[in-house]
Parts: sequence; structure tokens; C-alpha cells
Amino acid sequence: MTEQSTISAQARDMAARVERFVRDEIVPYEKDPRRDHHGAPTDELVYEMRAKARAAGVLTPHILPGGAHLNQRETAIVLIASGLSPLGPLACNTMAPDEGNMYLLGHKANAEQQERFLKPLVEGRARSAFFMTEPAADNGAGSDPGMMLTTCRRDGNHWVINGRKCFITGAAGASVGIVMAKDETPGGSGGACMFLVDLPDPAIRTDHVPNTIDSSMPGGHATVTIDNLRVPADQMLGEAGEGFKYAQVRLSPARLSHCMRWLGCCIRAHEIASDYACRRMAFGKPLIEHEGVGFMLAENLIDLKQAELMIDWCAGVLDTGSLGTTESSMAKVAVSEALMRIADRCVQVMGGTGVSEATIVEQVFREVRAFRIYDGPTEVHKWSLAKKVKRDWRERQG
Ligand SMILES: Cc1cc2nc3c(=O)[nH]c(=O)nc-3n(C[C@H](O)[C@H](O)[C@H](O)COP(=O)(O)OP(=O)(O)OC[C@H]3O[C@@H](n4cnc5c(N)ncnc54)[C@H](O)[C@@H]3O)c2cc1C
Repeated sequence: MTEQSTISAQARDMAARVERFVRDEIVPYEKDPRRDHHGAPTDELVYEMRAKARAAGVLTPHILPGGAHLNQRETAIVLIASGLSPLGPLACNTMAPDEGNMYLLGHKANAEQQERFLKPLVEGRARSAFFMTEPAADNGAGSDPGMMLTTCRRDGNHWVINGRKCFITGAAGASVGIVMAKDETPGGSGGACMFLVDLPDPAIRTDHVPNTIDSSMPGGHATVTIDNLRVPADQMLGEAGEGFKYAQVRLSPARLSHCMRWLGCCIRAHEIASDYACRRMAFGKPLIEHEGVGFMLAENLIDLKQAELMIDWCAGVLDTGSLGTTESSMAKVAVSEALMRIADRCVQVMGGTGVSEATIVEQVFREVRAFRIYDGPTEVHKWSLAKKVKRDWRERQG
């Protein structure tokens, strides 16, 4: 049996510092009006909060000086703490998609690429975007990334990329892009490739940034057209044709870190709802003493603990060096569904206040709803788990 990874005292200390920083310095920003048209914080606000995180020694807290990454179990306690406010991950630079992109570049980029594309991200001076999904109207890559329509073709010392992408979080305002495309070079790999791209580039045109249910991610989720984008060959990440393998390297930890951050948010939403239920009177006693309300908060406690345990278990598996594809699917379904139940109960316990902008509870509800879709919808994870059930059955048959 592989030995369980451990959580160092240094990581516990960092998690405690991040929690103090988010509660004391970032929560007050929740009422800051600097938001874009779809409700996401502006870059001015993001970089102001980051300056505070830098001063407090909690910027990019999951990556140690020198570039080493905390193990996944350690990352969990730090990212849960950063998630105690929807603004916390932006301030601490633990947010999506940058956190997942940093992880990928830390594992797959060469030294030169790391210096140029990863360093500014780790230092919190730049934002990045991951270009995989394509419009449903084109029947492009979505739940099934194998349906990718965006193409790349080798042309001398360059690659030329063409296609359309959508739901590209943070594309507006990012300076680093990771673009996926299918190799259509005659005699080429025929597989998917990943490219590191300087943004903005006139060959990547923003068609529109839709209004979406969530509002925590700067830049929103753009639909873009890529028209003859020329990328120098040395900006390919790894090898041609290996793009889907690299996507797997990124996806398991990235979907787990979403679980971590949104668990932090739901812990806070539960605190707010509990406070409401203990103070608010109805029918001669505090709401919490009405069984219908008390039981909702009791169920929250159970779901919060289940989410925490599932994250810690899956993090431990990733720490063994496993890709953890099955485990991260299980964790993503279990945690996102548990968090949805928690967020919904918090709204319900708080009545009208729960759906108003008075607290972050309504935002947490909206954010977690979207989380049940990105990084693999619940049904797609269950479908891939069902395939495993059948594989295991076949193996048992011999
Ligand atoms: C807020 C947000 C941010 C995002 N950020 C990014 C980003 O930065 N970069 C990026 O590349 N993409 C991003 N995405 C895209 C996201 O990864 C896709 O939305 C997701 O993969 C689903 O693809 P789709 O939307 O095309 O849904 P579809 O593929 O059209 O699927 C629709 C529904 O069909 C069902 N379904 C599909 N397959 C199966 C199956 N096998 N079994 C059962 N049911 C199934 C599921 O219920 C699914 O929700 C983001 C999405 C959202 C909502």
C-alpha cells in the first residue's frame, strides 16, 4: 500500500494565515462596486487585493519560493481557506483558471516556457485562459473533447491555428493563453496539441462575453474566433498529438481545486445562514429552534464534512502520483452535488434575505450551480464511472 502524504506544519500555518487574511482584509471588499457588466470583479480590484495579499505573505500560497508545489492534501487546506470569500481566490492567486494553468505549466512546460509564461502567473502579475470548449452551435468540443474542430497545421517554424472557442474564462484581460487544437498537418500526429500564446493577439477575436449565472471570474467567459493565429513552434507545450494527455494532467487537480475553493465558500455561507437562524425570531422562538430549520443546518454539517473528507481522500490519491481520473470524477460529483444542497439550504433558511444581495449566500448558490457543469458535468462523470463499473465486471469474469 502506498504511504499517505502528510500535511506539514508549514502548510497548516499558511492555511491559518490565509484564513485570517481573507476574513479580515478581503471580506470587506465584498461590497466593493468595482464589477464588470456581468458582475465579475474588475482587474483594478483584483490587483489591489493582490497587493494586499503580497504584503501579507499569502500570494500564491500553494507554490513555495523556488517553485515547488504543496502536495494536494496541503493545497486543500490552503485553498479551502482562500475560498472563504468568493474574492479570496482572486486576492490570493489561487483562482481558476490560473491555478490549474500554473499546475499544468509547472508539470509540462520547458524551462524557457516557464520563465516566460509561468513566472508572471506565479507572481500574480498576469492572468491566463484555457481554450478548449467550442460552441454547441458548431457541434464542437464540449462534454466530449474528442469532437474538437479547431485545427492547427505546421507551416515552417510556425503553427497556424483556426477555429472557434467558447466559455473561455478570463480570456478578456488575460496575457497568457493555452490553446488546444487538432493537428491537421499532412503526415502529422493527427492528435490534439496545446500551444502557449501571448494575449491579446489580433488573430483571436472576442465575438462576445455572455452574461452567465456566475459572477466571480474576471473577464467572464468569452466566445472567440481564432483566425490564422501563427504560433512559433517552440511555443507548443510538450509534444504534438499529446494534448488530451496533458489536459488530463491539468483536469484532475483543477477539478479538485474547484471543490476546495467552493467548499470554503459554502463553509462561509453556512456560517451566515446559521447566524441568521440563531438571531431571527418566528412564532415566538429563534428559527434554529424550529426543527425544519435546525435540520437543514444539521444536514449542512453532514454535507460539509462529507465534502471535506472526499477532497482529502482524492488529494491523497493524487499525491501518490496517480492521475486520479476515477477518484477526481467521484470527488467532483460528490462535492459539487453536496455543495449545491448546502447552498440551496442556506438560501432557504434565510428567506428573502437569502436571495438578496445582502450577503454572499445568493452568489454562492449561483456559483455552485455553474460548478455542476464546468470541469465535467455530473452526468458525464457518472457515465465514465459507469464505464469503469462495466470494465471491472468484465475483469471479474476473466
Ligand atoms: C462558468 C463556466 C466556465 C467555463 N470555463 C471554461 C474554460 O475556461 N475553458 C474551457 O475550455 N471551457 C470552459 N467551460 C466549458 C465547460 O467545460 C463545458 O461547459 C462543459 O465541458 C460541458 O460542455 P457543453 O457546455 O458543451 O455541454 P454539452 O456537451 O452540450 O452537454 C450538455 C449536457 O448533456 C449532458 N451529457 C453530456 N454528455 C453526457 C453523457 N455522456 N451522459 C449523460 N449526460 C451527458 C450533461 O448533463 C451536460 O450538462 C466553462 C463552462 C462554464 C459553465
